[in-house]
Amino acid sequence: MYQCNCGNDIHPARFKAGYHTCLQCGEKAARKEKLRKARSVTLAYNKGPYMYITPGTDTSSLGKKSGGGNGER
Ligand SMILES: [Zn+2]
Repeated sequence: MYQCNCGNDIHPARFKAGYHTCLQCGEKAARKEKLRKARSVTLAYNKGPYMYITPGTDTSSLGKKSGGGNGER
């Protein structure tokens, strides 16, 4: 019998699928993870517009921005 560290039983199929927590803990963790991701994305947007630089982005033009005004003191 598989058991979550909270004491609940874990369904064998669920355990085999890679979940080593019970449904309740799994949902809790998933919700937390979602919150964490949402928060980090929000922070990234607050920090500036250049957080997502893709291989197609012209980074040389970003470096040339020397006129200040990026909000840093
Ligand atoms: Zn649990």
